[in-house]
Formats: sequence, structure tokens, C-alpha cells
Amino acid sequence: MITQKTDIRYLKGIGEKRAELFNKLGVFSVGDILRYLPRGYEDRTDIRNICDTQEGDMVCIRASIAGGIRSFRARNRSRVIQVRVSDGTGIMNLTWFNAPYVEKALNAACTFIFFGKVNRRGMMTEMVNPSMEAVNTESDGDSVGESDKMGKILPIYPCTAGLTQTSIRGAVKSALDNLSEQINNIIPDEIINRFSLMSTDTAIRAIHNPKNFDEFNEARRTLAFEEFLILQAGMATAKQHTQKKKASIISDVKCIANFAETLPFKLTYAQKRVINEISADMKKSTPMNRLVQGDVGCGKTVVAAAVMYAVAKQGETSVLMAPTEVLAKQHYENMLKLYAPHSIKVAFLSGSQKVAERRENIELIESGEAKIIVGTHALISGKVTIPNLTLAIADEQHRFGVRQRTMLSEREDDKAVHSLVMTATPIPRTLSLIMYGDLDISVIDELPPGRTPVSTIAVNDDQRNKVDKFVLKKISEGRQAYFVCPLVEESEAIDANAVEEYIKELKKGAYKNCTIAALHGKMKPAEKEEVMNAFSKGEIDALVATTVIEVGVDVPNATVMVIENAERFGLSQLHQLRGRVGRGKHQSYCVMICNTKSETSNERMKIMCATNDGFEISEKDLELRGPGEFLGTRQHGLPTMKAGNLKYDMKILQDAHNAAVEILKDDPNLAFEQNKNLKSEIDRTFREIGGVLN
Ligand code: ADP
Ligand code: MG
Repeated sequence: MITQKTDIRYLKGIGEKRAELFNKLGVFSVGDILRYLPRGYEDRTDIRNICDTQEGDMVCIRASIAGGIRSFRARNRSRVIQVRVSDGTGIMNLTWFNAPYVEKALNAACTFIFFGKVNRRGMMTEMVNPSMEAVNTESDGDSVGESDKMGKILPIYPCTAGLTQTSIRGAVKSALDNLSEQINNIIPDEIINRFSLMSTDTAIRAIHNPKNFDEFNEARRTLAFEEFLILQAGMATAKQHTQKKKASIISDVKCIANFAETLPFKLTYAQKRVINEISADMKKSTPMNRLVQGDVGCGKTVVAAAVMYAVAKQGETSVLMAPTEVLAKQHYENMLKLYAPHSIKVAFLSGSQKVAERRENIELIESGEAKIIVGTHALISGKVTIPNLTLAIADEQHRFGVRQRTMLSEREDDKAVHSLVMTATPIPRTLSLIMYGDLDISVIDELPPGRTPVSTIAVNDDQRNKVDKFVLKKISEGRQAYFVCPLVEESEAIDANAVEEYIKELKKGAYKNCTIAALHGKMKPAEKEEVMNAFSKGEIDALVATTVIEVGVDVPNATVMVIENAERFGLSQLHQLRGRVGRGKHQSYCVMICNTKSETSNERMKIMCATNDGFEISEKDLELRGPGEFLGTRQHGLPTMKAGNLKYDMKILQDAHNAAVEILKDDPNLAFEQNKNLKSEIDRTFREIGGVLN
């Protein structure tokens, strides 16, 4: 019997090996695969007669082979297969490149459905690399068997190496066909009726297999509503819970002036204002819940250091968390320097620290000697007891979910912790109001003096020589450069390889006299540190990195950022990457190498070239990607949303918000029968982050 809890390896058609690949996608149970949502669809509903096709149409044709199959090698050595097909109304030429399986599948006795884009060349029509499927023709001639892929809206799933669309589709179908239970509604029935939503069961079935785009929209609305409701109701409950508790009062914040005096620069007006806002929060026993937004390079780190200083002076402890090891390490070095004049001890914790080093640091922490603890997020999951924890700061948390709101918000003695989140990727106002209505926001809207905006250009492969010349010129002037290779896939080994290969290419060509080093996820922390140190000191001309340098890294003499395959990155990511340069007195440059005709990619490039303003970029990002990206707590989250859907999604979010408020007003503990499923879904979502709802 297949239920949602069944391990996917017991699903028909999935073996051990495939199950492992699914696990990589975060899919473990049948329930998981049911909620593994398509990232898009291909509309194959339009089955056309060949004579009715027009240039540029994406259509299916139903045809059989009308001539010999030609198979040969083209001049560029790719294998070409050509065949002429006919459906009685016309003929069409089909061509495939490097698709050996096609030759085997083409069978003169069969009828096929081909799907692709129609080209017209003079009198001839053709398709290049069409998808195909054989359909059985029964003996009576015209009845065509069921087609799995044609004549319908075909879901496209996010993939991983080794798993094809076909195998994911097959697994989803097998799960839907064999499931022996109804998928329960999470949204209370009354709300479903009032907002004319689908039942969860109908919505899940429809999202994988929509009859038409109206049905898809309805299904998506239901699933988005469901997800928003879990988030909204979950956060509201978490808030009820933490607000009952008190946090430590930091009585002396004036002492921050002493800290400011020892800085090598003057704080900007905006930095001072934000320090004051945070200080005012910490003077109260209500736990602080504040978000600091400020564009890359505005100087958030020193703001964090300043407020942690006041906490330390009172003999209490703060943690500063960074998303990557490189950034955590850099923060650590930074804090050592900043606090040296004040004899404040700093401890460092990271996931891959050596045992002895970790032990030393844990001792520093547990003895209460270290008043500042810097580390990666792994720090939170570790089993370290932090005495007198009063302030928790999460740096560069732009994927700003429930997780950040609740982590570390409690301590053993049941006192609350003041929490601060810092981000260069602001959450657009409309969104933050609904999501974090209770969250206070501080904005650092001023860059330290003397910065010139980074000049940004987008080029394609043809201009590579020019790019090289330019970069070499800057290096000869004494500046340094970053090259960013894209993530090949989520494997550090392959990534590392890509970086090494890339360096080889650079060294073979224009950059043979330059010192170039690699920085990637597979390197040991000590190696990374060594490279970063050498780069900071100017001993390395160029750093070739994966996106590990995405956040926070600060080397003012590095003024050139070259981003390969820029089309693969989102706007916020590009902006973060660009933020690595433009940190010193020299003019900085960002070169995005981009080879794509994709409209959204080109739109992104245009925006990047037009503005350096992170706030503007994040609004555009929201437009292009939709709120799912900002809100995701689930691994796969909502289906990607198109720009036109933004208003529509904001409406769903608003409705879900209102529904949550209403539900909790009548039933604050979600104890009523009709809210049972919602409660258990909230518990499940929040469990991994410490079960704040118990
Ligand atoms: P971000 O806000 O992106 O985290 P950082 O905190 O890394 O920015 O600061 C960027 C750089 O600006 C650092 O080198 C930092 O020392 C420097 N900086 C910060 N505040 C000031 C200031 N008021 N005047 C001059 N330089 C500053
Ligand atoms: Mg920073």
C-alpha cells in the first residue's frame, strides 16, 4: 500500500539508485514527490495539420515517415539525422543533432507525434530537434493510442544530474496512480470555500497534470495559499510564544562612543543612526527583532561590531553568524582587529574546524571568556551552550525565512535573545509589511565617502580579447581581479574542477605572467584562508572563484570583477558579486560575460548596467522572480512566477495573511478539529528549526 509516508524506493519504477538521486533533490517520501512541483510547463496541446503550421509556431504534428532516414556527420563533427515526414496534408523535414537514440526510434511502420518549433524555408517546413513519441495505430487505422507526452500540457521539473524529465514524470505519475489515500486538506474547509480554493488533493493532481492553463492557475493559487498560510500562521504563533519572554536590558549604550573612537574612519551619519536605533531596542526587555538593510559596501559589519561592543561591556555574549566559511573567517579577523584595543575576546566556530581548534574555541565560549562568537550558521546547529547569550546577529540573510526569525531566539534559562538580521538585499516594502509586520527595519542609505559607483558592462564571447586586455591593464596598474565561474552543479568536486580548468585556460593565454589562485568550496578552510590572506595582501593578481565569494568578502584593492556565464545568476546574486569591488579609492569595474538570447537574462543584464542601487535591483528581482524566492522555507517552494503574476501573488499572500489572523483569533493554539492539519503542517515546517510551537 502506497501512502504519502512510503519511501520512494518502494514506488513502482524507482530503484535504489534512482531513489538516491531523488534524495539529492530533497525527495524522500511519496509525499515529497507529490509536492515536487514543476518549474514550468510546455504547452503541447496544439496538434496541427502540417499545412496549417506557421513560421515560429510551437506545435505538435502527427505524422509518419515519408522518405529515407539520412544520418551523417556535419563539418563540425556533430552527428546529424534527417528524415522527411508526412501527415497527408503536407510534408515536413525534421533534423536532429547529436541524438543517436532518434535513429533507433524512427520506425517506418509507426505514426509519431513530433513537437517543436516550425521553421519555414521557402516551400519547405521543418523542425530542428523536435521531441517525439510513437503512437500506436490500431488495426482500424485511425484510432490513436494514449500519448504520455503529446497533446497535453507537459510539466517540466527541476532536475539533477542523472535524473531525466522522463524519470521524474514517471515517478510522479506512479505516485499519483498508486496512492491509496486522499491527500488531506491543510487549509481549513471553511477557508477553502470562502476563497474558492481547490482541495489539496485536486490541486496536487492538477499541478502535475493540468488540463488547461486555467486549471493550472487555480491549482497554483491553492498551493501558494497553503504555503503562505502555513508561514503566516506559523510565524504568528511563534511570535505569541517569544513575546511572552524577556530579553536582557543593555543599560549602557553610550559606551559605544569609546568604540567608535578607535575606528580608523568616521562612522557615516546613516551608520550612527542605525546604531542608535538598535541601541534603543536593546535598552528594553522586549526582545529586539530588527532588520538592517544596507547596500553592499555601506558598512554593516562595523555597525554589528559597535552594538556587540555594548553587550560585551555589560559582560554578556553576542553571536555573529555568516552564511559562508570565507565570510565568517573574514568577520572573525575583522573583529579581532576591531576589539583588540578593548581587550574583548572573540571566539570562532565553523563547521569544518580542526578538532583541537574547535575545542579551544568551545572552551573560550563555555567558560564565558569570549564575549563575541563568530561563525557560520553551523554554529547554531552545533551543540554549544553559550552562557549569557544576549544578542544574535545574522549577516547577509537575504533568503529571509522563518528560520532566521526563530533561530537562537531562546536560551536555556528561558530568557529571550535580541535578534538582528543584516542584508544587502532588501525585501521590498510591500512584501515585508505583510510578512514581517512586526519587524523593525533600519536602513543604511549612505555609502562611506570616496566611493565611486562600479561601472558595469555586459559583453559576449566575441569580446573576450578586449576583456582580457582590459583586465591585464588593471593588473599592471597594481589592481586585482576576481573571476567568477558559475556553479556547474551542486557538487563541490565538479565545481572545483571547473575552477582549476578555468585557471589553466587563463594561464595558457593572456594571463601567463599573472599570479592566479583558486577559491572554491572543496578547499579546506585553512587553504581558503591562506588564499584570502595572500589576496588581501596583494600577493595574488587574480582570484578565480565560485560563488563562495558572493557575500561579504572585502578587499579594497580588487577593482575588477569578471562574471562568466552571467546569465546563470539572479539579479541579487549579480549585485552581491559586483559588491566585492568598488570598495576602495580606485574606480572599479564589473564585466558580465553573457551568451544568451533569453529575454529575462538580457533584462537582468540591462538592469545591472543601468543601476548600482541595491534597493532598485531588489524590486526588479521581485518582479522577475516573484515573492517565492524571498519567502521560501521549503526546499522547492512555489512554482516560479512570471512578472505578470506578481500582483496576483501579492493578493494571495494578503488573503492568506488575513485568513491566518482570523483563524488564530478564534483558536490561538490551533486546537480545534478543523485546524488540526494546519497545526501539524506548521509543526512539521518549523520542527527543523527548533519546534517553537510546542
Ligand atoms: P557591507 O555593508 O557590504 O557588509 P562592510 O561592512 O564589509 O560592508 O564594509 C565595507 C568596507 O567599508 C570595509 O572595508 C569597511 O572597513 C569600510 N567602512 C565601513 N564603514 C566605513 C566608514 N564609515 N568610512 C569608511 N570606510 C568604512
Ligand atoms: Mg557585509
